[in-house]
Amino acid sequence: MLTSFSILLLIAAVLVLSTLYLVRSAGKQRAQAAQTPANTPAPSPGKVELPLGQRREIPESEHRIPRQALDDNAMKVVYRLLDDGFEAFLVGGCIRDILLGKQPKDFDVATSAHPEQAEELFRRARLIGRRFKLLHVRFGREVIEVATFRASHDSGDNDGEHGRQAESGLILRDNVYGTIEEDALRRDFTVNALYYCVRDHCIYDFANGYRDIKARKLRMIGDPAARYREDPVRMLRAARFAAKLGFEIEQGTAEPIHQLGPMLQKIAPARLFDEALKLLQTGHGEASLRQLRRFNLLRYLFPQTDELLDSEEFPVEPLVINALRNTDRRLAQDKSVTPAFLFAALLWYPMQKRYQELLDEGAGAPLQCLHEAANEVLSQQVRSTAIPRRFSVPVREIWELQLRLPRTNRANQLVGHPRFRAAYDLLVLREQSGEPLQGLSQWWTDYQSADEAHRTEMQQRSHGASEHDAQEGEAAPRKRRRRRKPRPRQDD
Ligand code: ATP
Ligand code: MG
Repeated sequence: MLTSFSILLLIAAVLVLSTLYLVRSAGKQRAQAAQTPANTPAPSPGKVELPLGQRREIPESEHRIPRQALDDNAMKVVYRLLDDGFEAFLVGGCIRDILLGKQPKDFDVATSAHPEQAEELFRRARLIGRRFKLLHVRFGREVIEVATFRASHDSGDNDGEHGRQAESGLILRDNVYGTIEEDALRRDFTVNALYYCVRDHCIYDFANGYRDIKARKLRMIGDPAARYREDPVRMLRAARFAAKLGFEIEQGTAEPIHQLGPMLQKIAPARLFDEALKLLQTGHGEASLRQLRRFNLLRYLFPQTDELLDSEEFPVEPLVINALRNTDRRLAQDKSVTPAFLFAALLWYPMQKRYQELLDEGAGAPLQCLHEAANEVLSQQVRSTAIPRRFSVPVREIWELQLRLPRTNRANQLVGHPRFRAAYDLLVLREQSGEPLQGLSQWWTDYQSADEAHRTEMQQRSHGASEHDAQEGEAAPRKRRRRRKPRPRQDD
């Protein structure tokens, strides 16, 4: 009796478990079907706005990407997604850069999992973005960016909630999900649309990106003008990749930029701040400046600098080039760089011009005029690129120190200022670029390398109004010189 009851119980348990299993795997299959795996047939023509490329597989024997070049954490993310039944690939700049023998800046993953689905799989993950939803998976200081396959805006789901496009073509929201083929064609340049499959170690190429890498050509996927209208930042990206990779921009990709540049005025300053740093502060700043000037795009990032670039009054161009060259060199030597220095250097002459005007108008003491000029120039700048406070405060300090560095009789105090080093670097660049500072930067160079006794001697020799103070007079306090009674300096 007991035995037959146990057998019955066992059968019932097996039945329940297998039903549960069947329901779960059917659900999973449905979910996977909805995600459209990599070998799904291409969507019917006309459904996407771009002519679809065929998938070409480049085997490991041809692309020769060494497995150790692939980032461990990015691989963990890919495997986790695959284990859960989703499609997942390494994609974009990392594959492009490895093929070019460069160290990738970061690793990006493309997947069939929706951001919310992917989020559930990782402990340290965060959903970011509204216009373009992404998942950031964190491993210590490294962040792996996980993006869901996206589809063209006219392939359904363009309901305003997931995708939205303005009259001008500008994409306001880009969360229409699709297949890998559609995703490839939504990417910007052919060389950025290569997918590495960890299962067969092939590169999947839907847009002849592999050919373009070999030919060192930057080519927009689809109709370049329409793609720039969708997202004008792609124009800056074209300039950046041409500079970074030393690629030639294919003619059809380059041409529309001259005309469509003004569309960058519609881009949020915070995004342009990020792009400005990627252009100018990642090791190829000088080359980026050349590309920006070629396409007349600098005016959308630094309008005040751009306007003064051909000035006869100030050596703007040499200073900007020297600052970028200096930044590139520091990065090549693995030294630190800060956006505060970049902005202080690029906006130095716009600030200086306004400062001189204020002094001439008799608007106040030099330091007051400097603060006013700094305020005006920075508030003008943040209409183009944002400048987070943690950078704008040091920018002001670096500028203020330019006024104080001629006071070499206070050298021991100035040298301890937290911004001294950056201010000294700017001083060197100013003199190198042709500002008549009569050897002031060399004085500071010598001072820093001198021992204590020599420092004291140098400082004493420049007692009172130092020989360099005269230049400060040249560059700044014209108004002050007319005063009868000397007043204590406000800027010390
Ligand atoms: P890097 O990381 O070296 O700056 P990247 O190509 O990886 O270069 P990311 O900004 O990291 O650039 O973007 C990852 C990928 O996402 C790109 O390679 C590209 O395929 C796609 N992508 C990024 N921004 C855009 C955009 N504005 N329009 C279309 N595709 C884009
Ligand atoms: Mg990247």
